[in-house]
Amino acid sequence: MSIKKKIVIIGSGFAGLSAACFLAADGHDVIILEKNDQPGGRARIWQKDGFTFDMGPSWYWMPEVFEKFFNHFGKTTADFYDLRRLDPSYRIYYEGKEKIDVPASLDEIVRIFEHKEKGSGNKLRQFLSEAEYKYDTAMSDYVNRISDKVTEFFDFKLIGKSFQMHLLQSLRKDVRSKFKHPHLVSMLEFPSLFLGSTPDHTPAMYTMMNYADIVLGTWYPMGGMNRIVQAMVKIAEGNGVNIKLSQEVTKINIIKGKAKEVHTKDKTYIADSVIAGSDYHHTEQTLLDTGYRTYDEKYWDSRVMSPSSLLFYIGVNKKVPNLLHHNLFFDEDFETHAQEIYHTPSWPSAPLFYVSAPSKTDPTVAPEGMENLFMLMPLAPGIEDSEALREKYFKVMMKRLQTKIGEQFERNIVVKRSYCINDFKTDYHSYKGNAYGLANILTQTAIWKPKMKSPKVKNLFYTGQLTVPGPGVPPSIISGRIVAEEVSRQIKANLI
Ligand SMILES: Cc1cc2nc3c(=O)[nH]c(=O)nc-3n(C[C@H](O)[C@H](O)[C@H](O)COP(=O)(O)OP(=O)(O)OC[C@H]3O[C@@H](n4cnc5c(N)ncnc54)[C@H](O)[C@@H]3O)c2cc1C
Repeated sequence: MSIKKKIVIIGSGFAGLSAACFLAADGHDVIILEKNDQPGGRARIWQKDGFTFDMGPSWYWMPEVFEKFFNHFGKTTADFYDLRRLDPSYRIYYEGKEKIDVPASLDEIVRIFEHKEKGSGNKLRQFLSEAEYKYDTAMSDYVNRISDKVTEFFDFKLIGKSFQMHLLQSLRKDVRSKFKHPHLVSMLEFPSLFLGSTPDHTPAMYTMMNYADIVLGTWYPMGGMNRIVQAMVKIAEGNGVNIKLSQEVTKINIIKGKAKEVHTKDKTYIADSVIAGSDYHHTEQTLLDTGYRTYDEKYWDSRVMSPSSLLFYIGVNKKVPNLLHHNLFFDEDFETHAQEIYHTPSWPSAPLFYVSAPSKTDPTVAPEGMENLFMLMPLAPGIEDSEALREKYFKVMMKRLQTKIGEQFERNIVVKRSYCINDFKTDYHSYKGNAYGLANILTQTAIWKPKMKSPKVKNLFYTGQLTVPGPGVPPSIISGRIVAEEVSRQIKANLI
């Protein structure tokens, strides 16, 4: 590298960290400005009385994305954490006494399918082989595009395949045309929730997530998900990145059409290029003057956001039986809850929810003999949030959870913290308190996502879950790489 540039990155989430690692390894002078006192963004930790809680992501999917990231810097995941495949991957509780423990082995899953619905085992193998094709095509090519222009997607092979494999119909239609048993349908539709959308609005190309789920598997880094953040920080700092915590950016100053100064409360940082890993809406609406914004409030208001969440971090002073590491409570009507998230935004009448118990796998996240629980209830973004509402839903979830597992443990709770819409807004400047960006519906995919390159400010870029490729830890890491490659390309071409 011959030209060394000053790059200022706003936010130390996965996307900001990833971009920083690539650009610093390319020889640039990289600073990350992070408003919070810990790196990691939505994947921070909260520690109390011997418990360590991952505050956001808990599912480690698509392990090859992490591996590829570390390999780029001459490392492997094993250099930083001990990765374990979970088996069973997760449990789904249904109505009544029904539940399925989803095994890691595909042959065993096929047996479960066959047992529930005759002939569905072979259909699952066929469904997964199509999902594998979609996954491989997306991951080897399309997911890596900056998605600036529609012409990037003018590929007759892919257009032909799209029609042949009905990629643009809904995931729901695809799944339900092949499987009838409601438990199997809900198992195959569940990954769409990771995409911040409902199966009827998620394009069928995302059945590639079923391949990620069932074939590639559910993993866990011992020590917790924040270990990924710690590993990325090591790589970033090892390459010379200067991570400045508790440095909230208050303004990006545009001088002669370029982002030249980044202001925090007490300092000004000079930049050759600025990459915003902070929430897109906040960056544009708060940090930029009106004339430099690509999207206005009307645009944002018309977007379908992913849900927000009501979360609880709970320490229990005894072991809680009948829970696995990941537990999905699908014992209420999915349609009603989805309606209350997306169409009539309101607190749910009978919520579906998720409980993670990482202490089932990892003794380091709770004191000996105790349990570390994380509860998540998806919630419409932008609605009222209050202590009273949080507590009301804590009681609803605890009652159902304790009944389902046949164990009372509410009195054994020794640590408890709630986290909801208002916290997402305060801690991350999250638009409407969304948890994971934009919903992955067709009209908000690829070129229809907010752009990575500002069309108005030459050296200003965006990365993270609100731009391409989308929400989730692996996509955010990829997003950081794509933006870094574009910035590098522009520097080499003397455009910055
Ligand atoms: C509850 C929850 C559960 C999830 N579960 C999973 C899961 O199981 N698996 C999975 O793969 N994904 C999951 N996700 C999604 C995943 O965590 C996110 O997609 C990913 O972490 C987003 O990374 P990011 O870098 O885009 O954004 P962020 O992590 O939000 O990073 C943005 C950073 O910018 C900082 N910032 C904002 N404004 C400013 C400013 N003005 N100045 C300085 N800094 C600023 C913020 O503090 C933050 O650190 C979950 C998310 C949540 C919230």
